[in-house]
Amino acid sequence: MNHPADISYQWPACGACGQNLWASETGRQACRPCEDKIASRLAELPRLFVQLNTTASLMRGARKGGAATSGSKTPPIPPRLEVLSLVAAGGVATRLRDIEDAWRSALGWTVAPWRGSPAEAVPEHIKFLINNLPWAADSYDSIGQDVEDIRRLHAECTAALSDERRPGRVNIGPCPVTDAETGNACGTQLTATASNPRIRCAGCGTEWPDMASWRILRRAQEAVEQGMAAA
Ligand SMILES: [Zn+2]
Ligand SMILES: [Zn+2]
Repeated sequence: MNHPADISYQWPACGACGQNLWASETGRQACRPCEDKIASRLAELPRLFVQLNTTASLMRGARKGGAATSGSKTPPIPPRLEVLSLVAAGGVATRLRDIEDAWRSALGWTVAPWRGSPAEAVPEHIKFLINNLPWAADSYDSIGQDVEDIRRLHAECTAALSDERRPGRVNIGPCPVTDAETGNACGTQLTATASNPRIRCAGCGTEWPDMASWRILRRAQEAVEQGMAAA
């Protein structure tokens, strides 16, 4: 006798690692080792984010807020692109919010509330995800995707804080070069990559060829900014 249903029956597997679940785990979406792994990665993310955020503000020099206003103290730190993009909108905070929103929608809840800047939002998203992880491992059928996202996010943060450098392009602020006739700053958004120290303004064509000249660029940007604040 042939029972096609018996032949096609598959023992339930973890949605994250694909291993067969233990009998005691049947009905779960993810195995317990996977749940533990996500929990420990999530628990580490707030600390990693604080480190990334601190690194990013050092790279931005005195450009934001009132701290470190002395131009001479602003070092020409090459932008670590992966660091800047992880702390910016679309980075860690946004990716965690997307996971939180997916879980909320599966739970029939409203989307995540506005939680302020990435630095303010990251710990709140993490808190939500850790609190609801037991539910997700138990009953969220897309958990595999999120386990992978969290694994990748954790790996990217760790790599960004290590010495690896990868190419990419980031905005590093407006061009400070002043037009001799009008006295106005060029203002074109400048971009830089970690793979090439040369910065060239697409607006006025001014070049900053090497990292030593970045210091001059930073000071000029600060001078323009302070001039605008004073005006
Ligand atoms: Zn697993
Ligand atoms: Zn320019």
